[in-house]
Amino acid sequence: MSDCIFCKIVKGEIPSTNVYKDEQVTAFRDINPAAPTHILIVPNRHIDSVNMMIPEDEPLVGRLFSVARQLAEKEGIAEDGYRLVVNTNAGAGQTVFHLHMHLLGGRQMRALG
Ligand code: AMP
Repeated sequence: MSDCIFCKIVKGEIPSTNVYKDEQVTAFRDINPAAPTHILIVPNRHIDSVNMMIPEDEPLVGRLFSVARQLAEKEGIAEDGYRLVVNTNAGAGQTVFHLHMHLLGGRQMRALG
């Protein structure tokens, strides 16, 4: 997707503070952090949202969780706890339509709801 901001970050076409990269996944710090640790973990291949996932994407989405776990450890928030969030479509607050997982931690999270 040529006009997708996260595709551009994956390709290194716009600046980002990357904290992880492999052949399938890129992770970088959120530009507007909602917690002391706020990292976005994205598949390198463009997928609009969870709604556009196909069964073949399951290993890739599993990889997002594995990278989140590793980064939580590295950030020192694994023990205290962290929140993983995937907003899907506008009603849930999705603003960037390239599937991404928020890794949030470093402060006490309020209960959902
Ligand atoms: P969502 O609202 O779930 O779609 O999350 C999109 C997130 O992307 C927001 O938390 C934004 O602050 C973040 N964001 C938008 N543009 C950038 C960017 N260029 N670099 C890093 N984070 C970004």
